[in-house]
Amino acid sequence: MSRSLSSLAFVIALLVSASSTLANEHQQHCRYCNALSAWADPPQATNGRNYAPDRQVDVEHIKLDLTPDFDKRTIAGTATIRFAPISKPAKSLRLDAHRLDVSAVRSKHGVSSFSSDDESLTIVFEAPIAVGEQAEVEIDYSAEPVEGLYFRTAAMGLPKGDDHLWTQGEPHEARHWFPCFDYSNERASSEIICHVPEEMTVVSNGKLVGETKEDGGKKSVHWLQEKPHVSYLVCLIAGNLAKLEAKHRDVPLGFYTQPSKAKHAEFAFRDTPAIMAFYEDEIGVPYPWDKYDQATCADYHWGGMENTTITTLTQRTIYSDATENIRSSRSLDAHEMAHQWFGDYITCKDWSNLWLNEGFATYYALLYEGHKEGQDAFQYGLYLDARDDIGPHSKDLRPIVYRDYNVPRDQFDFRAYPKGSWVLHMLRSQFGDELYRKAIKTYLERHALGEVVTDDLRQVFEELSGKPLDRFFDQWVYHGGQPQLKVTYKWLPEEKLAHVTVEQTQEASDKVLLFEIDTLLRFIVDGKEYDQEIRVDRKKQDFYMTLPAEPQVVRFDPEYTLLANVDFDKSDKMLEAQLANAEDAIGRILACDELADVKTQAAVAALKKAFNEDEFFGVRCAAATSLRKIRTEEAVAALLDSTKQDDARVRRQVVEELGKCYRDDAVKQLLNVIETEKNPAIVATALRGLASHQGDDASATAKQALRDESWGGEPVGAALAVIRDLNDPSLASSVMETIKSREAELDPRDVSEAMVTVAKLSQKGKRQQEAFEFFVDYLNHPRQTLQSSAIRGLGELHDPAARPLLAPIAANKVDAVLAAAAKAALGELDQKTPLVPAEVGDLRKEVRELREEQAKLQKSLDELKEKSAAKKATGKKDDKPAEE
Ligand SMILES: [Zn+2]
Repeated sequence: MSRSLSSLAFVIALLVSASSTLANEHQQHCRYCNALSAWADPPQATNGRNYAPDRQVDVEHIKLDLTPDFDKRTIAGTATIRFAPISKPAKSLRLDAHRLDVSAVRSKHGVSSFSSDDESLTIVFEAPIAVGEQAEVEIDYSAEPVEGLYFRTAAMGLPKGDDHLWTQGEPHEARHWFPCFDYSNERASSEIICHVPEEMTVVSNGKLVGETKEDGGKKSVHWLQEKPHVSYLVCLIAGNLAKLEAKHRDVPLGFYTQPSKAKHAEFAFRDTPAIMAFYEDEIGVPYPWDKYDQATCADYHWGGMENTTITTLTQRTIYSDATENIRSSRSLDAHEMAHQWFGDYITCKDWSNLWLNEGFATYYALLYEGHKEGQDAFQYGLYLDARDDIGPHSKDLRPIVYRDYNVPRDQFDFRAYPKGSWVLHMLRSQFGDELYRKAIKTYLERHALGEVVTDDLRQVFEELSGKPLDRFFDQWVYHGGQPQLKVTYKWLPEEKLAHVTVEQTQEASDKVLLFEIDTLLRFIVDGKEYDQEIRVDRKKQDFYMTLPAEPQVVRFDPEYTLLANVDFDKSDKMLEAQLANAEDAIGRILACDELADVKTQAAVAALKKAFNEDEFFGVRCAAATSLRKIRTEEAVAALLDSTKQDDARVRRQVVEELGKCYRDDAVKQLLNVIETEKNPAIVATALRGLASHQGDDASATAKQALRDESWGGEPVGAALAVIRDLNDPSLASSVMETIKSREAELDPRDVSEAMVTVAKLSQKGKRQQEAFEFFVDYLNHPRQTLQSSAIRGLGELHDPAARPLLAPIAANKVDAVLAAAAKAALGELDQKTPLVPAEVGDLRKEVRELREEQAKLQKSLDELKEKSAAKKATGKKDDKPAEE
């Protein structure tokens, strides 16, 4: 079965490509929101609710002695498992084991029989093993894993010299490569001895015990993880690896990449020592393990995985410095390293409590960002999480702690990651840095090397603060949703009173509660701040504040301590004053957003000023977006003139906005950027922007970009994607050629999208036949990512001839991912509507023409206004008054 290309993954991929590229930056973590996800079959819940399984024995130690065969892509060896029965004598031992071929089982306690099926191995002992008695089983087995352990070799079409294998455990893949108790409520120490060709490197958990030379040009490498951890964190990486090294205190830090990627590896690794130093300081618990390694892996389907002492990473984390400050591995690096404490040192007991792993990792990565880049950057991260990751799910009312999920992957979403992070931020805001840190340290030390549930965290905060937190956890963690607040403000001049009304407009139910919120109102009068602490706990409440004079700025939650959707309607003047407040970056960003609806010249002038002069890049990006939304000549001109912004992140934002302008001068500017811009990330954004424009120039440029040689292949990926939207069938053969010639180097997600592009452009006649043959060639490709991409392409091609090819794949029980891809493709075969039908192209054209028409009208109007103003200024009277 396997990873990649499930239909869900594709939906996510499409959503990601459609959302802002800036927002994508901080979504590339762990399993969340990543395109090529693989998920093992989960244990089935029997009553619709999910709990951790029973433990009959305590597993104490797992020892794996393994020999991989890189040609056959198989493993063989022995698993030795030491255990002791917990409360009842053990007559037998059941272990999770997915399609492992077990040839022998030995034990000093005597094995009377053993049997295995696709899911488990059961060993029956000659006599029951007494409670507390230590016992050991040795299991000889081999496997050709489709999940859990992945070979990537030159024979599979990957770059020569990069052969390697990597493993993935979470949530339930460990059982695909060794027999184990595969759930997170069991911890054991572990040990791996791996036999490989001499020139290869082996990396695993814990510390290196030694390397021993063996006959036939081989060696064995021995790793030992002494402190206990859960099965899904056991990891093996072996192959041809290049290594970079550093140190934090006495903790060795290693960074491994495939040799073909080594040239740029240093950038991805450069923050690691500083992140570890910051975490030790912030968390108050020293790094709890022997060493910390990170390794990139080909076709790694998520962002990263926090195996104990050895994090696996997508190759996309390696980038060239040509991308300036747009690409960075900092956030992924910080996220995965935070898991070494939150996830590995202590581990969520079951998937309903997943946020105790992922919410912490998300929040601590933001804390590091704030430590490195300042408070504005920290709050901006929270803002993007709320706006882009939580906001779109406002109708999803499932709570963070949730037992009714169908499969574990359902838990790996916005609730565990950004919302979990926000819950921690609200605790920190409520109790202050000092108490928060003390609570987290206590929580970690109390549960060190153990499992945690949400109540463990609540108890610690309650003990240290004296404040009952039942309501806090009830509303934020055990119930869903977030406050929807309508805030209104009035100034009462006679009484010199500010009157603020706060109304909770979310519908309270058994799923979403009426919230209790402690926050601030801030009034700024002639540069001086007046704060009022407020508690909102009813449906609608009024607050009054006496002030010396009418305030220029009124802010609700000015310290940004609350996850809520706040609708606060303010006057243009107040928004402009808020945008001018240098002390309040989030306030300035919110003002930019609001000013997009205010199309006055004063609003445009304020936005232009912020766009060109604001100190914080996030404000400049927000201003760029608002100028584009305003769409007046002057607003668009400000964007057109600004493709030379110093900060690459802002420059890219400008290009992204131009892509949404639907004007000839905007297309011209995009084409100009593609020709002259040196930063490949910005070129890629410009290429994507051509999607809304179409035309011969766009087609020729996209075709040309398929030959782009920038490291990382971003422009090629963008060209492959945009060609689908350009809807020019003559480009189908160029896309096929590009896939064929560059499949080894391109991001698998890009290749997958390109396959769909081929299908979309080849819906009829000779082209359809060519595409059909192209996809069929890939069905037997040794790389599963390409196989499932071709399966997807066959579905999108809508040629019924694919049905007899897809049906047996859909019925295949060994490779569940390919089977799922084939099922989705068969479903797609029945759907005749192309994703980008010709009508959409026509509609786009119409919209473009309408926009152009509107722009001309606006121009005439502006000229009239100018004339009128000029006449007024010279004292002449006009028949027609100016329409101000
Ligand atoms: Zn994570």
